[in-house]
Amino acid sequence: MSRAVGIDLGTTNSEVAIVEDGQVRVLPGEDGELMLPSCVGFDDQGQLLVGRAALRQAAAAPDRTVRSIKRWMGTDHKTILRSEGSGSDPTRDFLPHEISAMILRALKQRAETALAEAVTQAVITVPAYFTNAQRQATKTAGEIAGLEVLQILNEPTAAALAYDLRSEETERVLVYDLGGGTFDVSVVEMTGSVTEVLASHGNNQLGGDDFDRRLQLHLAERFRQTHGMAVPDDPVTQARLLRAAEQIKVTLSTHAFAPVREAFLGSKGKTALHLETEIARTDFEALIRPLLTETLEAIDRALSDAKLQAEDLDRIILVGGSTRIPLVQQMVQDHLGQAPVEGVQPDLSVALGAALQAGVLVGEEIDAILVDVIPHSLGISAAVDTPMGVMPGYFSVIIPRNSVVPVSRSEVYATLSPNQAVVEIEIFQGENEVAEENVPLGSYRIEGLPPAPAGSIQIEVHFDFDLNGILTVTTTEKGKGKQGKLMVNHAGIQRLSSSELQQARANLDALFTSDETKTGSGVRVSQPADAELADLIERAQQLLSSLADQQAEELQELLDSLEHALAAAETATVSELQEELSDFLYYAAPHAT
Ligand code: AMP
Repeated sequence: MSRAVGIDLGTTNSEVAIVEDGQVRVLPGEDGELMLPSCVGFDDQGQLLVGRAALRQAAAAPDRTVRSIKRWMGTDHKTILRSEGSGSDPTRDFLPHEISAMILRALKQRAETALAEAVTQAVITVPAYFTNAQRQATKTAGEIAGLEVLQILNEPTAAALAYDLRSEETERVLVYDLGGGTFDVSVVEMTGSVTEVLASHGNNQLGGDDFDRRLQLHLAERFRQTHGMAVPDDPVTQARLLRAAEQIKVTLSTHAFAPVREAFLGSKGKTALHLETEIARTDFEALIRPLLTETLEAIDRALSDAKLQAEDLDRIILVGGSTRIPLVQQMVQDHLGQAPVEGVQPDLSVALGAALQAGVLVGEEIDAILVDVIPHSLGISAAVDTPMGVMPGYFSVIIPRNSVVPVSRSEVYATLSPNQAVVEIEIFQGENEVAEENVPLGSYRIEGLPPAPAGSIQIEVHFDFDLNGILTVTTTEKGKGKQGKLMVNHAGIQRLSSSELQQARANLDALFTSDETKTGSGVRVSQPADAELADLIERAQQLLSSLADQQAEELQELLDSLEHALAAAETATVSELQEELSDFLYYAAPHAT
């Protein structure tokens, strides 16, 4: 029996998944990443690049790179790419399905490497609104890539399959798909293995990229306010700002604040100008709320086309990377009066569903889809404002029980008394409202908070719970960057089937209905300001202008990566890059002048 893969050929990212031993999983590339950016290009030697490598050069070499080709599928739009080194003609043109075939070919290769066997059959997904011409172009792309296309499957159907919705009863499911460049909402009716798309609406010019651009403008405005001048309007600087914006956006999905440290964005005379600030989740939410309101209108249109009311829906499914944004989840939930189902990573569900369908088509045995959840709520002891006054020792839940792992959440706390210099963070797991009644997991003290009025020092407590059951607690004092960390590794993981999960969620909803404002404790552990690193960056910047093109490009890339790692507080990456930068300076400096 040959094995067949499922492929989500997305506008921004694509994935390939397989059913193995009754379980479905997305196959990683050699770099360990599950998502392959849907980006194709040629490097300056004429070498074909697909995925992350192509995306990396997109800003610097737009004439050699193409993104979002999916928007053109089924048309005869020609993409002209400069491809020096590949013969006498320096440019070549490609039809949309030819570019898509390159992405599919890369995914086929990825699957073959991961599985150590040839892969020749696939189910490929397309948006529900795709016309016949667009579907045919997708099929042709698959065939060009060397795949027998077993089925072209609608994305909302695939997403629904990933949630194990093959019940014999008829279910009406609303699939809200917000990706990088497109938004789709579909209402599907599923009975057993039969799925009908009742209505589908969307906007193929709305997605996470728009959020990035809004945040980019916001960052530029902060820079202007700080330095009294605009950020230089050259493509490289603007591309850096846009990349920073995306990074900040992703951080804000799990953190209340995101630090911004973009060095050398411009200069005034001989002084280099940096952007050092902090973006609050609420700032970001204000920027994107109008765009999200448009998506709610599309929901209403889809429902009315399907002749249904919100109450008629059995489930709501969120698909696409941008649905990781908490405000998206909140607005959809508030609008429809029903919480979306969870259990599958929103950007992987389409690929997983496609793989399940491929598995069914080639006769694989498929068990119930299992998901990993945390068995107990995790939180800290804090004081809470209640109508009867401040109640200390309350169990403030940060990650609720039954959240699907991996999961990251944070809450913001404030100091309780004037000039509070010390804060004790105590971590518990359990379901009791009184912290002490739960199981203690660890604690630590933060000392040396600066004198300030009560409530004026805000501390974000961030919980990261990984696939291995390790809880990492990080605390950040607002406006001061990363400050402290504690790891706890006996919090455990439990496996539930998706229907058990559903039941468990309903039970939990009944338990947790109140939503208090929390005040209480916070943490601070000092991290010395890294003078050595600052010095390295400054020397690198001075060196840049005197280097030959290729070396300068390499150094700029290194500096960019370092800034991003610093902004994301990825300590391990920062030290690696610091070492690389130090080596670079050591070898490059003698030849520079
Ligand atoms: P997709 O097309 O489903 O791969 O979604 C890609 C979009 O999701 C891009 O705009 C990403 O920036 C965005 N995205 C991915 N992860 C997150 C996250 N954690 N928070 C916010 N946006 C995200």
